[in-house]
Amino acid sequence: MEGRSGNQRVAVIGAGLAGIAAARELVKRGMTVTVFEKSRGMGGRCASKRWEGHVIDHGAQYFTIRDERFRAAVLGASGDRVQELAAPVRSRTGGPASLVSEPTRWFHREGNSRLVRDLAGDLDVRLETAVAEARTLLRAGGGEFDHVLSTAPWPQTARLFGIEPADLDLVPCLAVALAYRGEWLGGTSAAYAFREADGPLAWTACENHKPGRIAPGFTVLLAHLSEPFSRAHLEEPAEDYPALVRPMVEEAWQLPDGAFVAGFGHRWRYARVEQPLRLPDLPPGLHFAGDAIRASRVEDAWLAGHEFASNFS
Ligand SMILES: Cc1cc2nc3c(=O)[nH]c(=O)nc-3n(C[C@H](O)[C@H](O)[C@H](O)COP(=O)(O)OP(=O)(O)OC[C@H]3O[C@@H](n4cnc5c(N)ncnc54)[C@H](O)[C@@H]3O)c2cc1C
Repeated sequence: MEGRSGNQRVAVIGAGLAGIAAARELVKRGMTVTVFEKSRGMGGRCASKRWEGHVIDHGAQYFTIRDERFRAAVLGASGDRVQELAAPVRSRTGGPASLVSEPTRWFHREGNSRLVRDLAGDLDVRLETAVAEARTLLRAGGGEFDHVLSTAPWPQTARLFGIEPADLDLVPCLAVALAYRGEWLGGTSAAYAFREADGPLAWTACENHKPGRIAPGFTVLLAHLSEPFSRAHLEEPAEDYPALVRPMVEEAWQLPDGAFVAGFGHRWRYARVEQPLRLPDLPPGLHFAGDAIRASRVEDAWLAGHEFASNFS
């Protein structure tokens, strides 16, 4: 893109990791940036919810910090409010539970979406402001921006740009939170989470392992359902998900009868990509950066936005 300079105006669509990372770097490079976010809060799929006195991460459960640039940004923005998850993750696939080894898992003490708010700092973010058509933000379309960067999931971005989406299937994921009366029920003190490669319960985690998140006297479990299960039930009302998933969670964690208190369900229609997107040519002035061009992880989404902006000038 020719003619980029310090006085360029850039609209960023989406206040998730990619959008905030890009916006911060563009501002650092002297551009004037406005972020438009359709939801009430920042975070996107790095989502947290206040619910029944608890703070639940119903999107990204934890994040890695492997890249030095990401480490510096996270420590600078959140400091020691980002903590390590010490308890193990176990696999329930094919026989007795075994340990899943992965890089250190991190979480934000106040909810993982708070990481995104911290990273945003004093950026100009317009919440509850959905963009309907990206071109109308450009000067050529009657708007006030020289460039528009979308970080909305790729199928949504393609619609915003008025182009055919490239052949990229985003995998959906149903999320269910379940609260129980009583602390550290069943097997919850022994493991943070279970992974299951071949069953419907792809991931279940006990949120009590994130100190300060769960109201005293309760145990809260969070389940992410497998791709086949999520696709099969995607269009059912989200209120029905807890009843559908409860028996599986209670069996997996050996929870006692009669302790269940409440649950909620959430539908992630565009949860993750299997393969990185090969970005097609985009109309002049329109750009895309998001987890789809790397991998569906918090750290990769941040890097996608950061690297886009770093290469912009
Ligand atoms: C269920 C689930 C579990 C996950 N677990 C993990 C995990 O444990 N660890 C990990 O590292 N990663 C995990 N991920 C992946 C991680 O959350 C994502 O890769 C990352 O958050 C994507 O960031 P992003 O900025 O690319 O996109 P998003 O977070 O999707 O941000 C895009 C933003 O654009 C906004 N938007 C969309 N359309 C418009 C519009 N028209 N106008 C204005 N705003 C708009 C959206 O509201 C959203 O805030 C998980 C994801 C899901 C869904």
